[in-house]
Amino acid sequence: MRTGESYLESLRDGRTVLLDGEAVEDVTEHWAFAEQARRIATMMDRTAQDTTGELTALDEETGERFANMWLIPRTGEDLARRRSGHLAWAESSFGLMGRSPDHVASALTAMAGAADLFDQAHEGFGANVRAFHEKAKRESLYCSYVIVPPQIDRSQPAHRQPEPFLYAGVSAERDDGIVLTGAQMVGTAAVFSDYVLVTQIRPLEPGDEDYAFSAVVPISAPGLTLHPRVPYGSTEDKSFDYPLSSKLDETDSVVIFKDVFVPWEQVFVIRDREMVMRQWSATGANVLSNWQALNRFTVKMSFASGLARKLAELHRIDQVRPVRAQLGGSIAVDTVSMQAVVEAAMRHSEPIAGMAIPGPQYVNGGLNMQRRIAYDAVRTLRELAGGAFMALPSSYQSMVHPDTAADVEKYYQSTGIDTIGRVGFLKLMWDFVGTEFAGRQQQYELFYAGQPHINDVRVFDTFDWQQGVDLVDRALVELRAGADG
Ligand SMILES: Cc1cc2nc3c(=O)[nH]c(=O)nc-3n(C[C@H](O)[C@H](O)[C@H](O)COP(=O)(O)OP(=O)(O)OC[C@H]3O[C@@H](n4cnc5c(N)ncnc54)[C@H](O)[C@@H]3O)c2cc1C
Repeated sequence: MRTGESYLESLRDGRTVLLDGEAVEDVTEHWAFAEQARRIATMMDRTAQDTTGELTALDEETGERFANMWLIPRTGEDLARRRSGHLAWAESSFGLMGRSPDHVASALTAMAGAADLFDQAHEGFGANVRAFHEKAKRESLYCSYVIVPPQIDRSQPAHRQPEPFLYAGVSAERDDGIVLTGAQMVGTAAVFSDYVLVTQIRPLEPGDEDYAFSAVVPISAPGLTLHPRVPYGSTEDKSFDYPLSSKLDETDSVVIFKDVFVPWEQVFVIRDREMVMRQWSATGANVLSNWQALNRFTVKMSFASGLARKLAELHRIDQVRPVRAQLGGSIAVDTVSMQAVVEAAMRHSEPIAGMAIPGPQYVNGGLNMQRRIAYDAVRTLRELAGGAFMALPSSYQSMVHPDTAADVEKYYQSTGIDTIGRVGFLKLMWDFVGTEFAGRQQQYELFYAGQPHINDVRVFDTFDWQQGVDLVDRALVELRAGADG
């Protein structure tokens, strides 16, 4: 199986990453990306070495192991196998890496499990979906996706934007493939991935046919450029002052396609508005990938609960009853509720296209809960901290500088822990709740699953209303019987 070293080597493929106007020669060496690339490589190594089933599954036909994120779930046990991989990946980043490889792999795996639907829309495209899934499984590929167009004029459909092909679209068809032109809004972790899935997740309108496609494109494809947002790492070593920002920046990039050629074998949908939507809903891709996201979020909530508990102990307020009630009634309750939702989704899986897909009403409901809980957790941690984050040495240098070290040692101390331990812990916590990295985390939790109101309509559509309606009907029958009697 693919090792960390071969993963890092494959990132040196001539991909075009333009940061501050300049091309990044080697993302594995560049300060903005190297640390995160290294962490992903470590997980690739863990996967390659796994014999327990934590990160891998056994291919019955070949007898070989593969990353369990590519396992097509046929049973509840398969979902449990997938889940153990999701949790291992999430724990590697304390739940802070949203688009770890298992996110988009989940979408592509559900698509492969429902490949017949792609054939029904366009003969032969089901084989493309299956073949790519097999390749990804065999080679442990890392895929990202760009499924939302740029925010240029949201009141107009794709074909009525100020110019054609501002949104990524099929600008030409050739005998051997298609040509993509335009941009997509955000590709999280695209810099670290092998392939990007390019398509749309929002409904398209008549006239938008050029934009109604789905295809996978190597990141190094000629004409594909990545434009990352401001990186949260630094040219200097900030691992003490910004322990999360400096190590776990998964990077979001605008992805621009300048006449990028894509062979037909990598095309899943062409000029089919309905199939572009069905690839998410009818295949279970949306639900399976968002279930991964909720699994990841349970780890993040555990991390938040650990921060809360440790801070309360650090400041000796853990025995104060109102504080216990505050933490019990917020972070603790929210953490177990989220764990329960993820578990319930697995137990109440639904047969979709011959697969066992986690219960949609639990996953969609969980996404709504998660958006609120993510904010509540940060607010609780901030409330608990009081002014602690502001009463910290400006940097590690202040802790070791001969002119300040003694004062820092004396006045920043805490009972029960050494000064460096207290300061380090509070810096960790601030990186979780207050830095630019933390702000981006909040934005991620709010929007990674699309527009919140669209998800809430999905909750309406998938919720089991009938159970409640039956109860009310029974009450009404009893009421009527009472009135008649
Ligand atoms: C950190 C981060 C990472 C991301 N990673 C990825 C990624 O890896 N791949 C990817 O494809 N995308 C990614 N995205 C993009 C994400 O999918 C979109 O941000 C999300 O779908 C919301 O779309 P939008 O940003 O275009 O918001 P808009 O559609 O512009 O909406 C913004 C706001 O306008 C209001 N609004 C707009 N239309 C309506 C309406 N009809 N009814 C009511 N209110 C409305 C709402 O308040 C809404 O929240 C990422 C986003 C973030 C923030």
